[in-house]
Amino acid sequence: MDLKAFIRDIPDFPSQGVLFKDITPLLKSPEALRTTTERLLQMVNGEVDIVVGMESRGFFFAPILASTLNAGFVPVRKSGKLPGKVVEETYALEYGQDTLEILEDSISKGDRVLIHDDVLATGGTAVATCALVERLGGKVVQCNFLIELEFLKGRGQLNGFDVKSLMRY
Ligand code: IMP
Repeated sequence: MDLKAFIRDIPDFPSQGVLFKDITPLLKSPEALRTTTERLLQMVNGEVDIVVGMESRGFFFAPILASTLNAGFVPVRKSGKLPGKVVEETYALEYGQDTLEILEDSISKGDRVLIHDDVLATGGTAVATCALVERLGGKVVQCNFLIELEFLKGRGQLNGFDVKSLMRY
């Protein structure tokens, strides 16, 4: 099945000049949803204790993967959304910066962690997420993505990590 047929290009979203890869057609198709899940699972090798998904589109598949891998799901969220004690990482955007947070007690030392998001673009989100996991003592066993925007070179920022993606542009 050609999963790229279920990815829609939206020009000038969320801002002028950005060509947004929209995965909602893929989510809506039962066959594409199932095939995507199967292919993401095939990319994983070894044991996983926790699947971390990033707000917000990482939340679609991360819990599904966790459930099949017999792992738990842990959300990484934007500032101020998580209840309780958090650790945070701030990273640079093209204009400005952003902060991601994870609950301090959500990962135990030595946990094997799979990181999942829908899109790898510049890599800022994934690098910050890896840093959060490592600060809590987790070991990042893989970062996987539905889509990799290769021209933005995010993979280069994730040096030393196992980076996998289903679709590349
Ligand atoms: P990065 O930090 O530059 O790698 O951007 C990745 C984050 O931005 C991910 O959490 C994505 O959900 C989001 N993102 C960037 N570009 C797109 C896109 O074209 N479609 C959907 N999400 C995107």
